[in-house]
Amino acid sequence: MRVYLTTPIYYVNATPHIGHAYTTIATDILARHHRQRGHETFFLTGTDEHGTNIPRVAAEAGLDVKAFVDRNAAAFREMTERVNASNDFFIRTTDPRHEAAVQEFVQRIYDAGEIYEDVYAGLYCPRCEAFYTEAELVDGKCPVHGIVPEYVEEKNWFFRLSAYQERLLDLYDRNPEFVLPRFRYNEARSFIEQGLDDISVSRASEQWGVPVPWDPGQTVYVWVDALINYWSALAFAREGEDLRPVLWPEVRHLLAKDILKFHCVIWPALLLAAGLDVPRQLFVHGYLLFGEQKMSKSLGNVIDPLDLIDVYGADPVRFYVVREVQFGQDGNVSIDGVHERYERELGNDLGNLVSRTTAMIARYRDGRLPAATVAGAGGDQLAGLGDDVAQQLESFDITGALERIWKQVRSLNALVEERKPWELAKDDSGAAALDGTLYELADGLRAVAVVLAPYLPETAPRILESLNQPLDLSWEGVASGKAVPVEGIKPAAPLFPRVEAPSAAA
Ligand SMILES: [Zn+2]
Repeated sequence: MRVYLTTPIYYVNATPHIGHAYTTIATDILARHHRQRGHETFFLTGTDEHGTNIPRVAAEAGLDVKAFVDRNAAAFREMTERVNASNDFFIRTTDPRHEAAVQEFVQRIYDAGEIYEDVYAGLYCPRCEAFYTEAELVDGKCPVHGIVPEYVEEKNWFFRLSAYQERLLDLYDRNPEFVLPRFRYNEARSFIEQGLDDISVSRASEQWGVPVPWDPGQTVYVWVDALINYWSALAFAREGEDLRPVLWPEVRHLLAKDILKFHCVIWPALLLAAGLDVPRQLFVHGYLLFGEQKMSKSLGNVIDPLDLIDVYGADPVRFYVVREVQFGQDGNVSIDGVHERYERELGNDLGNLVSRTTAMIARYRDGRLPAATVAGAGGDQLAGLGDDVAQQLESFDITGALERIWKQVRSLNALVEERKPWELAKDDSGAAALDGTLYELADGLRAVAVVLAPYLPETAPRILESLNQPLDLSWEGVASGKAVPVEGIKPAAPLFPRVEAPSAAA
């Protein structure tokens, strides 16, 4: 199986907030999971650096445009590293190799006769870099930014999106899982069903962009430029190799709901027009809401993901965002929430289990974990775990898969309470049962570490280390009886040490 996963490329008009980190983390979890299963996996993220907004915001910051995009792209790259994303490449749309690919791509559509010249007049939100119809506005304002759009009139190049309605509907009908979750599929399909207008794909007044190859006085519309990154990056992401024949169209795009129309309607149509295959699948996720409002720079209610990581570490932040809100839905997040799950679930459920298990092996068995033995009554504790999680992650149910894993963690905790190793250790009659119980706990934790590794990439190896187990994260490890007999297990240091509760001012 080949899996090419993408985040949207992030717009460098501002610095990263937790909404960006969210998509990157979710995509990373899937990428790590697929690699674990031996799938040929490629994970792309990056930055969108053209468009009208950029020179304006750069000027406001008192910077040259290139210096400005370099600075903000670096901030996104840092965010990517700090959340511990395992991306294979980081694309920037100001990369000349991308710019050349954009020209090649639009030229293909132009040569196919699907682009024509016309005058555009309409209402334009410069923040969205998108036109709106009167009906789409809320009280005459941009539904995303709440600002009054500008009336714009200019000669543009247009793409015959309207000609693709039937082919798009057919595509949706043949692929009922083309867009997930289902309600987003319905939203995209009904948008197409209502009829599509041709879209302007160039800007006459904008210099900061990729020149239209047959009319260099104009630049390619930033959204078209941006979407093409998914295709262009494969041409140069790996030195001396063109990955497009290998990985296209095995692409799964992850994106937030505000850019559904561009990804689920316009992008497939552009690909069809260019004679290319459409993406395998798109997953549209919701917003992390902070006090019921979408978190974004323009609304000023930003949690800096890097600040949270400074306090809690990357793993707890990764864990929190996908655990707190069902992936695909909107949901509320808070700093108190991060703290609460850190203490209760990571600290108590998981961290204490590792501490107790290693401490009991050290105390009752002098640090020795014997070969696999069966304690008896329990049956296979881990039955179904690997299959369940794999199936859920294949359908992008990152939250559901994590809940399934947590069920396992809770049942291992229950095992300690049921078997009471401290009582079994009182005399020799309990020796076999004690060996079996300690093995089941250690083996269960080992398997949990493997299955959790995509979520907690720093913690998983530490769990294996504390049990003196090989640092093997391959998927075959998600099964019973794979723990190898070892000696020298010591009481483990806390995986999630205490952190001061956030102050009300935070
Ligand atoms: Zn807007």
